[in-house]
Amino acid sequence: MKSFALRTSRKEEMLDITEAVQRIVDESSIEDGLCCVFVPHTTAAVTINENADPSVKEDILSAATRLVPENWDYKHLEGNAHAHIKASLFGSSVLVPVVRRRLLLGTWQGIFFCEFDGPRSRTVSVKVLKG
Ligand code: ZN
Repeated sequence: MKSFALRTSRKEEMLDITEAVQRIVDESSIEDGLCCVFVPHTTAAVTINENADPSVKEDILSAATRLVPENWDYKHLEGNAHAHIKASLFGSSVLVPVVRRRLLLGTWQGIFFCEFDGPRSRTVSVKVLKG
């Protein structure tokens, strides 16, 4: 298992971590298998989506806020219930096939770290499995 740190700079944002994950695949000796990207946080997530047009991630974040507004009748008193819910909806891990030492992503796909309660220091863990 390898990890890397990142620092988010906004309350909510999606950061493209594809190259950092590919670097970990490069450093592993695994030719073919699966790459698990895991985010060990309760108000952040990881997802795969388009990395060509940056407005897609803005649309995803604004649609998520329409689905899960910041202010509502939440019981969690820390004030970040919306961030917890978004993190659960997006999920804390993704699994990407590795073929010939490359992440098997589609042409327009990237792996995004999703911050919902920033800015914060965050960690991403990556495990490459042979198979
Ligand atoms: Zn909380």
